[in-house]
Amino acid sequence: MFGMPTPNTLLDVIQAAPAGRTAILLPEGGIRVTYESLRNQVRDMADALASLGIQKGDRISTVLPNGLPAIVSFLAASMAGTAAPLNPGYREEEFRFYFEDTNAKLVLCPAEGAEQARRAAAALGIPARSLEMDAAGVVRIVDAPGGKAASAPSPDDVALVLHTSGSTGRPKRVPIRHRNIAASVSNIVAHYSLTREDTALCVMPLFHVHGLVASTLSTLYSGGTVVAPAKFNPLSFWRTVRDAGVTWYSAVPTIHGILLSRAGEERPAGAEGLRFIRSCSAALPPEMMERMERVFGAPVLEAYGMTEASHQMASNPRPPAARKPGSVGPGTGIKISIMDEAGNHLPAGARGEVVIQGPNVVSGYENNPEANAKSFTDGWFRTGDQGFLDADGYLALTGRIKELINRGGEKIGPREIDEVLLSHPAVGEAVAFGVPHPTWGEEVAAAVVLKEPAAEADILAFCKQRLADFKCPKKLYIIGAIPRTATGKIQRGEVARTLTA
Ligand code: AMP
Repeated sequence: MFGMPTPNTLLDVIQAAPAGRTAILLPEGGIRVTYESLRNQVRDMADALASLGIQKGDRISTVLPNGLPAIVSFLAASMAGTAAPLNPGYREEEFRFYFEDTNAKLVLCPAEGAEQARRAAAALGIPARSLEMDAAGVVRIVDAPGGKAASAPSPDDVALVLHTSGSTGRPKRVPIRHRNIAASVSNIVAHYSLTREDTALCVMPLFHVHGLVASTLSTLYSGGTVVAPAKFNPLSFWRTVRDAGVTWYSAVPTIHGILLSRAGEERPAGAEGLRFIRSCSAALPPEMMERMERVFGAPVLEAYGMTEASHQMASNPRPPAARKPGSVGPGTGIKISIMDEAGNHLPAGARGEVVIQGPNVVSGYENNPEANAKSFTDGWFRTGDQGFLDADGYLALTGRIKELINRGGEKIGPREIDEVLLSHPAVGEAVAFGVPHPTWGEEVAAAVVLKEPAAEADILAFCKQRLADFKCPKKLYIIGAIPRTATGKIQRGEVARTLTA
């Protein structure tokens, strides 16, 4: 933003605004947290973490719903060590994987619940601590010791570790440095001209970069207000927008679709205060964009983000600049090019793999030389997405090279599901795949070949014990043989097409 120093760390991000302004508004209970309070809470919790023995680089897993505890603990963990936020919907086995994989030193949970995470932590001998929030909106670690002060983070420190699905069953670890996130936040604030007058409603989970970086950190850097409900609630959404004076929100097409179907043709009260609506993390159908603009009466800007880029790579601009349906817009503060398999850059209009370069892009996966060798060509990061740039430099995404199921923006590695299915004693072969779904965009399905009799319900129940709900196949095809290509290969897309035809 004009006149603001470029941030280098998350500490810079939250230091930019005047002390007395409202940083966070919790619509349940109407609690307002000022920037001064937020900064104090983050400092106190970072010190408490240091007093618990956390040092730079130590991973702190958090298992929290959206809200103030998730925001304060993310910031504090990224200052004292490295934040590793996890989906609270995971099952015990999934928590065990993530705790072990990140080498978690501490797990932070809500005062109540999170039993599966607590059991997983106990089994691995990792201490779990509870967070509490008082009526004034101050979050603390219950019974935390004192005595030590956390030192300020440096730009190269890893602020955040997340996972993206890999080509094996094991997700890849993405270490995101303070400077990566700071660059991303700066790009987003500049691109949408966010200011202190903006109020963003955060309905995306805070364990992904979409909710964390686009809705929350960008707003904090601009000095605006983040409205942080515990979850997306279509019944209270517009009331919150109206009462809190929301000026923009970002969401996945699944959420936009739910809001549209509830609105019918009538503009919801509160929508008149919106400067723009942002859509990201999955393809926004042009007819949905057109309907949103007509019914909600605000420009709809589709953006393109990914974990490895600390979220935003491209976005359509605000009016009067042109926004193009079916396009994710030009690169925002980063370079975008299209590459063929051999690593040649392709001209405008030609389809190939989307590759990116910029200060928000991570330098590599952690402890994964094989994935790094595949993902970087001449200093360009290969996104695994397919697309082309038009003559104006706007990017259109046309497909995916990487194997993942995009269920309402939540990415699922199909091999992880194969492996769970294959661990069932009756399953001989298994292939998971995405199938089109009217609400989710894609939904998870799977085909199995049995080596002994088993009921579909048994196998699905087996999955439910081991996989978070969003990853569980909703449809299981029990078949005699997995369909193969002419050359004998199993291609998920082909299996999906054959079975759903
Ligand atoms: P994640 O790391 O969970 O943010 O997922 C990143 C992936 O989401 C990208 O590589 C794309 O495959 C997909 N994605 C993000 N934004 C869009 C979009 N606007 N349209 C289509 N796919 C998208």
